[in-house]
Amino acid sequence: MKQYFEIKEKNPGTILLFRVGDFYETFSDDAELVSKELGITLTKRNNGGDQTPLAGFPFHSLDTYLPKLVKKGYKVAVCDQTESPEEAKKAGRKIVNRDITEITTPGITLSEKLLEHKRNNYILSIHWAKDRIGIAFSDISTGEFGLSETHEKTLPSFLASIQPSEILVTTKLKNKLPDEVKHFNITYIEEWVYEGDYGYKILTDHFKTHSLKGFGVEELKTAHVAAGSLMHYMRDTQKAYLRHLRRLYAYESNEFMSLDPATKRNLELTASLQEGGVDGTLISIMDRTCTAMGGRLLRRWIMRPLKRLKPIQQRLDAVDVLFKNHEVRNNLREELDQVGDLERLISRICMGRTNARDIVQLKLSLIQIPKLKSLFSGTEDPLLADISGRLKLMIELQERIHKALNDEPPASIRDGNMIREGFNQELDELRDIARNGKKYIAQIKDKLSEESGIPSLKIGYNKVFGYYIEVTNSHKDKVPEHFIRKQTLVNAERYITPELKEVEEKVLSAEERSKTLEFELFEEVRLYVAEFADEIQQIAHALAEIDCIQCFAEVAFKNNYAKPDVRDSEEIDIVKGRHPVVEKSLPLGEPFIPNDIQLSNGDQQIMIITGPNMAGKSIILRQTGLIVLMAQVGSFVPAESAIIGMVDKIFTRVGASDNLAAGESTFLVEMNEAANILNNATPRSLILLDEVGRGTSTFDGLSIAWSLAEYLHNQSSVAAKTLFATHYHELNELEQMYDRIKNFNVQVKEHEGKVIFLRKLVRGGADHSYGIQVANMAGLPAMVIDRAKVILKNLESHSLDITNKNGAIEEQAGNKKAAAENLSSKIEKQDEVEQMNLFATHVDPRLETVLNKLEATDPNRMTPIEALMLLTELKKLVDH
Ligand code: ATP
Repeated sequence: MKQYFEIKEKNPGTILLFRVGDFYETFSDDAELVSKELGITLTKRNNGGDQTPLAGFPFHSLDTYLPKLVKKGYKVAVCDQTESPEEAKKAGRKIVNRDITEITTPGITLSEKLLEHKRNNYILSIHWAKDRIGIAFSDISTGEFGLSETHEKTLPSFLASIQPSEILVTTKLKNKLPDEVKHFNITYIEEWVYEGDYGYKILTDHFKTHSLKGFGVEELKTAHVAAGSLMHYMRDTQKAYLRHLRRLYAYESNEFMSLDPATKRNLELTASLQEGGVDGTLISIMDRTCTAMGGRLLRRWIMRPLKRLKPIQQRLDAVDVLFKNHEVRNNLREELDQVGDLERLISRICMGRTNARDIVQLKLSLIQIPKLKSLFSGTEDPLLADISGRLKLMIELQERIHKALNDEPPASIRDGNMIREGFNQELDELRDIARNGKKYIAQIKDKLSEESGIPSLKIGYNKVFGYYIEVTNSHKDKVPEHFIRKQTLVNAERYITPELKEVEEKVLSAEERSKTLEFELFEEVRLYVAEFADEIQQIAHALAEIDCIQCFAEVAFKNNYAKPDVRDSEEIDIVKGRHPVVEKSLPLGEPFIPNDIQLSNGDQQIMIITGPNMAGKSIILRQTGLIVLMAQVGSFVPAESAIIGMVDKIFTRVGASDNLAAGESTFLVEMNEAANILNNATPRSLILLDEVGRGTSTFDGLSIAWSLAEYLHNQSSVAAKTLFATHYHELNELEQMYDRIKNFNVQVKEHEGKVIFLRKLVRGGADHSYGIQVANMAGLPAMVIDRAKVILKNLESHSLDITNKNGAIEEQAGNKKAAAENLSSKIEKQDEVEQMNLFATHVDPRLETVLNKLEATDPNRMTPIEALMLLTELKKLVDH
């Protein structure tokens, strides 16, 4: 226990799995936690009255239980015996030495049970300096290590694009964690790690360089601190040299379109709004990659659309080549299907968490390269030619692996059978002895059986006696004298002979020795392969790229997408655009109705889209966002044609959602998102506003929506292209007042009291929401629907019916009176504000008379009596 507590103390915040014999045990608080989380029995040590809680599981179940704990967000340290009991005894120690061999955390793992094939698993470190924020992130399972510097304002968007599983910060922030990172899995690192030039030193030490100039990150001083703490933590947890982390790269956020977390969520790029799963997301439609590396790169591409024209056009051109050439594309897909996860294979190989199967798999993947290369060797497309150039053949490496390893080696690296015959002379000799020894034993068996006249005499093997002779009881009397009895069974006796033992000694030691030698040879091969980590990572990246490009071509072909014309301009012109996900999920026989969208900063900057509930307004907004995003990712788009003037940011404010856990109501979330848009949009942005202002009272909401639209139109610094879907039909008035605001509506037809959705976006505003009809479709009781119709009628004629015939409602007349008074007082208050025309259609006709009378009056020429009489007259007017 002393040893346990010493190790435990050195690793705070970690569950310690402590190897005792054939079990991994946990004690005290860990035991209580582990038993609860894993559903395993909690017992007491009860050793000499010790009441320490204890929970454990057999060592071979580690692979089952450890991932379960890490998935729940815990960090788990595995503490193993680092010497055998014999070694401990020899050294005069009563207990064997133990030490931590690996710590697995949500952000640092190589376990296949914790990693998703098509998803990176990032750990990220943040260092807040005075004027900037330094960031470093890594996926230890693929060897990626990026650095960046950012600011408070852009941090959330940065985090949304990386989606780290774990974030490292200094312990200094323990009780004052900034809001942006609060909901992540946080690990605190000692303060000193962030001090001085420790970060820079640990990095140059790892990469064995004098500076970081070669990686182009020398100037990112704040990021060095973050990267240093990340390297420190990774080394500390892995207890190994991370030789597969071969390069640092500068992640330039200004190369990518900025997508804030709300937009990523609302556009359902990789997770659906409802269940958070992949169904119904853009990636579920787009992912036709054949390799895990391609799948991961696709996710990164989708999360980080480009902002520079050249690389976008390069991708589009390459996609076009494969889009048009079906044969090449199909062959490419077939070859890529044979390629393993080179990135993760080489990481495991470098870290020594591997076996011969991984290395053979690596070889088999490399074998595909010449075929892949030949598929587009003659291409003139610059990107395809570049990728082809980066696909190195690695013949020498393939040959070496082939010579060394069997084609189908076992999963274990300790039980032999990995190394190919002929690779190592000593191994061949040992194997020969072992094999011949076995043959010799078979000969001995025949000889003994003949000599003794016992035909059923057998030679067997077990761990306790080694080789033994077994004779059934019926032949017991024939057993020769030189047999030495070892064991009596119910039906038989077991014996040994000196000759048998002599052969056994030879066979077993040869077998043991050959297994050890195989392990040593395997390690040599592993280290040899690890030397090629850099090249293999580059090949993996090239393969991932070609996989994404063929994926775009395949998706475009299968789904009838068109190549967008991406420009450095201010217009968006989508002809017959479709929603890539909804078009795939409509019930059979229900066609998706395409729509056109034209936006331009100079002419049609803001489209106000009205239309009934369920008409398809939200879909139009989202499909526009997705089409722009897809185009800037380099993909074809679901449209007949599309001109996309590149956008720098997409903002969405869609639907209502609470963030009650963070103490934010629906409306506050809505306003936070709106504030973010107004503070960060530029004329090059695309804003999708769906139902702004719906979370509060009608007049508050309408006023906010109105002034927001005005602001976007009038403030040149934020005059972004905007789609504004709304049920506030009053907003249609804006078109009269502002040049670049245009009204549209999604058409419906009314037939026999029912609404038929045409889903067509047409010019002009709508004046109905048909909400009651939609409520009827949803099955609200007829009484509620009928009553709603009456109230709507009254509201539209602008007088609340508080003396209705309906008895049930009459009971609430008191409340309704208050509501009616409240409503009209709000109207009056609004009227005081400048924007009177906003409510012009609802203005009380009496107001006009009052205003006329006041206008005709000159108070300076009135006697007090005349003034009093006027006041009485006005009062009467208002009272009736
Ligand atoms: P609300 O105002 O109630 O939020 P909305 O106008 O935003 O409604 P959407 O959510 O966009 O309506 O669309 C409602 C449903 O109509 C969608 O879920 C989809 O099934 C269908 N739909 C929308 N657009 C189309 C279209 N272009 N073609 C076919 N079906 C569509």
